[in-house]
Amino acid sequence: MVMASISKNKNNTEESFRDNLATVDKEGRRKWIYAWKPKGKFYAIRTWLSYLYFLIFFGLPFVKINGRPLFMFNIPKGKFIVFGNIFWPQDFFIFGLTMITFIFFIILFTAAFGRLFCGWACPQTNFMEMMFRKVEFMVLGNANEQKALNKAPWAGEKIFKVTLKHILFYALSFIIANFFLAYIIGIDDLQKIITEPLSGHMVGFTSILIFSGIFYGVYAFFREQACTVVCPYGRLQSVLLDKNSMIVAYDYIRGEPRGIQKKHQPESAIIQLGDCIDCFQCVRVCPTGIDIRNGVQMECVGCTACIDACNDVMDKIQKPRGLIRYASENSIANGERLHYTTRMKIYTGLCLVVLTALSVLLFTRKDINVTVMRTPGQLFQLRGKDSISNLYNIKVMNKTDKDIPLTIKIENINGAVQVIGKPYVHVAKEGQGSGSFFLIIPKNNIHNRKTELKLALYEGDKKILTENTSFLGPVQ
Ligand code: SF4
Ligand code: SF4
Repeated sequence: MVMASISKNKNNTEESFRDNLATVDKEGRRKWIYAWKPKGKFYAIRTWLSYLYFLIFFGLPFVKINGRPLFMFNIPKGKFIVFGNIFWPQDFFIFGLTMITFIFFIILFTAAFGRLFCGWACPQTNFMEMMFRKVEFMVLGNANEQKALNKAPWAGEKIFKVTLKHILFYALSFIIANFFLAYIIGIDDLQKIITEPLSGHMVGFTSILIFSGIFYGVYAFFREQACTVVCPYGRLQSVLLDKNSMIVAYDYIRGEPRGIQKKHQPESAIIQLGDCIDCFQCVRVCPTGIDIRNGVQMECVGCTACIDACNDVMDKIQKPRGLIRYASENSIANGERLHYTTRMKIYTGLCLVVLTALSVLLFTRKDINVTVMRTPGQLFQLRGKDSISNLYNIKVMNKTDKDIPLTIKIENINGAVQVIGKPYVHVAKEGQGSGSFFLIIPKNNIHNRKTELKLALYEGDKKILTENTSFLGPVQ
């Protein structure tokens, strides 16, 4: 397994670091990570990308297509909108297939690019490192100042700074919770919760408070534990990565043996050292508190902070950058290039198959779903001297954004339709409609006990659907 095999520190058999969590001390207590603020090329790019990320996160709920949100995942109502298309529980096979496709992509993507998603696109990493931690640096100061403040007695400055930090953390969590809810209920309903009297929106308001509490708890206290202990994607790394996967890796061939040559030592004691000067800068900036020189570890979220830190050190000691870099285990061990493995090709093929099936389903998906069934327990009724009727129930799912007055006609045989109560079945927009109707057919058109019928469903003069059903008559 790659997690174990890649470890190459100065003592290659030394694997004891795997017995401990970087964030737990010997007594089993939480060890708070005071990560240093990274600086460098990757951090600058990630910062700019995070602005775009936040713009998308906070902007998408306002985007609408034909009056509908671009995305909405209303789990309580079982209503999902993706790119302006409504999906109902009846479409769940599409949703299931989308999930399978998504999982295939994750497998493929991770096999090829490791935890690139975690470092660059994961909401947890972006909000934690690019929003909350920056606020923390702003209010409490750098890592050393934070440590000192933590040790200081509870007095004026400490009380002020810590309180301010938590107020800001909660305020940000509250804003995120509002937008998070907008992805569930839509921005219009969120606006109602904000602008209308609270008494009418207690459930919505309580949801905002619960989400705010969760986000605040995660970013103020739980922090990196979300990635290292809870996240299932992180847990899967050990089975998804192989020796050709791209990871943030330490070049132990170049770096070891690590250390600094001592001055004025006897010639016999001088050994040829690698490029790592054992300065621990890569460890100090790590938000999960690990030492990447021990090899790839599940706790590594691929944030690239250690790459920036080490590149800075290499610049100072005038050595080439890239002692820690994006690489694969093989590329470091054998000088191989990152390449496209057979496993990745198989995953790509499977992805394409599922993606094609998904596209076919999406493109052939109807806006109206109809179920017509003969009313259970009913056979047929005699209508006057020369006709027979059957009673039916109809259920219609309307995925469009307009009401539909639905009329029914028999297509393949002479006969009449009598909708009970109204001349048509009313189906509200983005809703469901149901009704009952009689099909009345002259006896001389019925030649079998069971006659197959085609029912045409019309909206005004426009035929929108044809549905098959059967008609029962007396035994001939
Ligand atoms: S920052 Fe670079 S030189 Fe310093 S300890 Fe880490 S790998 Fe070694
Ligand atoms: S080891 Fe490096 S890339 Fe991994 S989490 Fe720590 S700083 Fe980020």
